[in-house]
Order: sequence, then structure tokens, then C-alpha cells
Amino acid sequence: MRYLSTRGHPVRQSFSQVLLSGLAEDGGLMLPETLPKFTDAELTAWRALPYHALAHAVLSKFIAPDDIEPATLAALTQATYTKATFGSDDITPLSALDAFAPGMHLLELSNGPTLAFKDMAMQLLGHLFEFELARRGARLNILGATSGDTGSAAEYAMRGRRNINVFMLSPAERMSAFQRAQMYSLTDANIHNIAVVGVFDDCQDIVKAVSNDLAFKRRHHIGTVNSINWGRIAAQVVYYVRGYLAATTDNAGRVSFAVPSGNFGNILAGHIARDMGLPIATLVLATNENDVLAEFFQTGVYRPRPSAETFETSSPSMDISKASNFERFVYHLFDGDGARVAALWREVEQGRAFDVSQTPEFRALRQRFGIVAGRSTHADRIATIREVHAKSGRLIDTHTADAAHVARSHMAADVPMIVLETAQPVKFAATVHEAVGFEPPLTPAQQQMMRLPQRVTCIEPNAERVKRIIAELG
Ligand SMILES: *Cc1c(COP(=O)(O)O)cnc(C)c1O
Repeated sequence: MRYLSTRGHPVRQSFSQVLLSGLAEDGGLMLPETLPKFTDAELTAWRALPYHALAHAVLSKFIAPDDIEPATLAALTQATYTKATFGSDDITPLSALDAFAPGMHLLELSNGPTLAFKDMAMQLLGHLFEFELARRGARLNILGATSGDTGSAAEYAMRGRRNINVFMLSPAERMSAFQRAQMYSLTDANIHNIAVVGVFDDCQDIVKAVSNDLAFKRRHHIGTVNSINWGRIAAQVVYYVRGYLAATTDNAGRVSFAVPSGNFGNILAGHIARDMGLPIATLVLATNENDVLAEFFQTGVYRPRPSAETFETSSPSMDISKASNFERFVYHLFDGDGARVAALWREVEQGRAFDVSQTPEFRALRQRFGIVAGRSTHADRIATIREVHAKSGRLIDTHTADAAHVARSHMAADVPMIVLETAQPVKFAATVHEAVGFEPPLTPAQQQMMRLPQRVTCIEPNAERVKRIIAELG
């Protein structure tokens, strides 16, 4: 199993090399040279496995045995996917949502430490990074910017891990009280929260400025854990398989998935699983008002937006203007034509749109890849949260509501529709209150977390200041 760049660079890398590197040398993203397949016999055998063993079986498809030994990988997945971390032996329970739409299910991906689906992959990354750095005798200073979910998932995955520090920038007054408490109450010596007086883009600009200082980057071992990390995508393929197995009794059945999407990371894993032979009928891509992806799948025009055209919505983890993982899908759409992908992204990097609506590949997209798309507005998600609660007694969060809303217009008889639950409603309490008239109750542990002292360094937006902090503490 070797990896190549979406833009055609001739270098090939192993999984563990790709794990710690960001972009390919030519600016592309790394993908498997060829996608392995799931066999019918494997799917049957996997029905009996606990989650961690399924994770081992699926990840073995992406990792050569002479890269990470199978016994090591088994130990890492076993340490990651535990009841202690994810709240149940099931790890990702599947529950029926027939009361809202007959045949609809929820796959719970948000029972990890930070109550968002990003824990599913990030927790594994914590174990994989620690293993790989120890093997290389190397250290890593992870620098990131977050508007909420990614930063906390990274911190909870990396806390206390050897040879790793996390420096996480967040916009000082823009996160919810719950998100602030979650991140800033951590006391681990290797976790450094930096609140920037400004908005998310100011944080992002600082990360770019520091990363563009190549000498500093090398000297201080700067790395990232952003959504283009291939290890995260590979880990996410596992729960598509798990969801399929939970919703079917034999491999003759097919299922569909509905995915609340921002950077195209979650649904990319679904696309990969389908390409590897998992019997997925349809992948329903849901966006909020920031509909750059829905627009592409409906029209063939990909038009990344400037930040001024990116709205602040009540499903904030999907407020993106360009989708960082989308390039990987386009590489598959054009059958691995790296030169063509490189040409399209030369346009994107100039801030321009591209239009592939007249190509045979785009015309065949829905048939070949099974992806359909739709958008959801604030009114839609409020109505969906309210209706799901009224009919089933269950509270869902704003992002999951976007997916449930879009999924409802793509139901097909006899094909279960699995909506991916990407966060707990308690993280977005104000909007949930607007929908149902009360806030989701906090558990005793969460109440206690809200009262803990917070540890954060507050700074003006200034990259030099961040470099000094890393130089001192990293
Ligand atoms: C990150 C996130 C998303 C979007 O996932 P992508 O992989 O960026 O498409 C959706 N919902 C929640 C709650 C998230 O945290």
C-alpha cells in the first residue's frame, strides 16, 4: 500500500510517512495508489467483531504490514476504541429515527471526550502519532487554529502524550461557553491554549504565517492535525462499515448515508468506503447556508468563496468557504489525472471558480459515485430539531439536523438511510433552546467542567508573539 499525490508528483510514500506530513511536495493531497476492496467474506466475518477489531481489519487495508506491524496496529486500535473513551461497548450505536422519517437511522459518532465526531479519528491519531514519533526519536509541536470542534478534539487526543505539544489558537470571544470550558480547563503540561483577540480567520492567518517561515517550522518541528490528514480519513472509513453492518443482516442489503459536510472530510471517507465495495446506495451531502459543495454537486461549478461571503451560521462547524478535502474526490472523478487536478487547483488558488459541468465525468457523477447534495437553512434546522424532538423525544444538534433535513428528501423504499450524528446538542445549546424552548441538560461531570478554572493565554493577532511562545514552551 503506497500513497501518491493528487497533482501527479512521482514520489510514492508509506502510510506512516503520509501520517506526519501535510501536503505533498507539489501542493497536492496524498491518496492510496489504488483502493483495496472489501470482499463479501470479509464483510460477513466482520459482523461479529467488536469495534476495535473492525478498526484493525479495515485499517490493515491502508497500512502495509512492514510499515506498521499488525500486532502493533491491533494494540493501538484496542487502546483507542474503548468504553471508557466512547461511553459504550458499541462505540457508535445505531438507533432508529422512524418517527421522523420511516427507514431513517442515526449513527452516533459523538460520544467521545469532546462530544463531536472528530474524536472518532483524532483519538486514534493521538496513539498513532505517539507511536510513530517514538519510533523515529522525533518530537512534534502541533500548531492549529480552531473555531471549536477540531481544537478540542486534538487537545483531548494529544493530552499527556510523549514528544507532542499542542498550540491551539482560538478566537477569544467567538466560541460557546461550553467549547471554551472544554478546551481551557485542560491542565496538561503539553496543551497550550492561545486565545486571539479577533475572529477565526485571524487565527488561521497566524498559523499560515508561522508555517510559511520554513526555517522556524523546521527548527521547532511544527506540524498540524487538520482535516486533510490521511490518517483521519482512514479512521473514518471504519464507522461507515460499522454503520452498514449494524443496519443490515446480510450483504445483499444496501444502505445510504447522510453527512453534514464542511471540509468534505467525513463524506470523503464514505466515498472511499463505497469505492472499496461497501454496498452504499446513496451518499447524501448536506451543507448549511455555506453551500459551496451542494452547488458543485448540483451544477458542476466549484466556486470557493472569499471570507466576506462566508456566513456565520447556527451549524458553525460547517461554515467553510472552500473544502480542503474536495481535491481528493476530484482526483477520483477524473480517474487519477493529476495534471488535470493540478490545472483546476491553479484556478482555485487564484481565487477563481472552475466549471466541469460539460464533461462526461461530471454527467456520470451521480450514477458512478452515488452522491447527491442539498442545503439546509437556519429555519430548516430549527424546524428539524423541533420535529425530531416532538416525534421521538430525542434531541439532535444543529449539524445533524442539517443532514436529517436534506436526507428526508432522498429516502428510498427498503434502503435504510443512516444519518451521521456529528455532535451532541449540548455543544450548541442556544440554538437547541431556540428550537425546543429549553437547553439540553448538562450531566454532573459537564457541570463540574463548566466551573473549573480556565488556563489560556490571550494575545493580539500577532504571529511573532506565537513564535516566541512556541520557542519558549515547545
Ligand atoms: C467538523 C464537523 C462537521 C464537518 O465535517 P467535514 O469533515 O469538515 O465535512 C460537521 N459537523 C460537526 C459537528 C463537525 O464538528
